[in-house]
Amino acid sequence: MEELIIAGESIKPGETKRLEIAMPPLYTDTHMSIPVHVQRGKRPGPTLFVSAAIHGDELNGIEIVGRLLNSKSIKNLRGTLIAVPMVNVYGVLNQSRYLPDRRDLNRSFPGSKKGSLAGRLAHSFLNEIVAKCDVGIDLHTGAIHRSNLPQLRANLNDEQTLSLCKAFGLPVILNSDIRDGSLRQAAADLGVKVILYEAGQALRYDEFSIRAGLKGIINVMREVGMLNKRNSKKGHAIEPFIANQSGWIRAHESGFVHHQAQLGDHVMKGDVLATISDPYGTELGKVLCPAESVVIGKQNIPLAQEGEAMYHLAYFKTPNSVAEHVELLQDNLVSEENNATVKPE
Ligand SMILES: [Zn+2]
Repeated sequence: MEELIIAGESIKPGETKRLEIAMPPLYTDTHMSIPVHVQRGKRPGPTLFVSAAIHGDELNGIEIVGRLLNSKSIKNLRGTLIAVPMVNVYGVLNQSRYLPDRRDLNRSFPGSKKGSLAGRLAHSFLNEIVAKCDVGIDLHTGAIHRSNLPQLRANLNDEQTLSLCKAFGLPVILNSDIRDGSLRQAAADLGVKVILYEAGQALRYDEFSIRAGLKGIINVMREVGMLNKRNSKKGHAIEPFIANQSGWIRAHESGFVHHQAQLGDHVMKGDVLATISDPYGTELGKVLCPAESVVIGKQNIPLAQEGEAMYHLAYFKTPNSVAEHVELLQDNLVSEENNATVKPE
């Protein structure tokens, strides 16, 4: 088995270690580092990273990583799991998506040793962690005041990436073009397959999103051979559906919002998604659905400025089946709770 060295420390097969990747200190002379948990199985297998909080206000992923590390399922893994609960430690401290230099870490890859703070962080994470992996799962949430239905985004033109997405076990998958400066692009350049999990909203825990994410990661670990495949499946199998296209519906008026459509809803052309009123309660207009689709993201705050992105709709060949499988997924994850005499998986 290859030698694995992270932050100058060697981790041998069968070992579990907590490490810190040193980062520039705060101006208060406070030491800063990215915490890393490395767990190597005795038996060989792939190396997987699971990262969260590349955007520092996206907290769901931190909880998912915590539950994963406490899960009995990963006790006897093959290969190596590298879990990074907070990549953007500065952002977590400031409860902010960005870094203190106001840059977006996910637009700062591959970065450089001598670049901006964001560039240095990107460079360290890419070289210390990502470059040493075969596969990665990067955990995100919607922005502040916006929720996402659990969904995957990945380059589905790559066959292995597509099979990882299908194994994850979510009904909604988006084929997303790689954006310049993103972790996914930098990872792809290194030959590392990365899928992005988006669910819930910034600065909040969302139980459904946390469970769906945890389960998905374990499913991917089974798929790549790090864990044994299951013979009997609990609950109903969730089918993956790939969206042809997606887009945000924006407010035509500024005002106060009554949301009608909810995440996971199957909506038809002409359906009222929300109404917008003035401060005296007089309706100013309706936010209408432009075509049959599924609601995969929504604004939560009942305030809108003209031009505000209000609903993210995804267009599928069989939107009714997608909505059914979203319900199935919710049922599966809830019924697990009812059966749960053990800790979450
Ligand atoms: Zn994000």
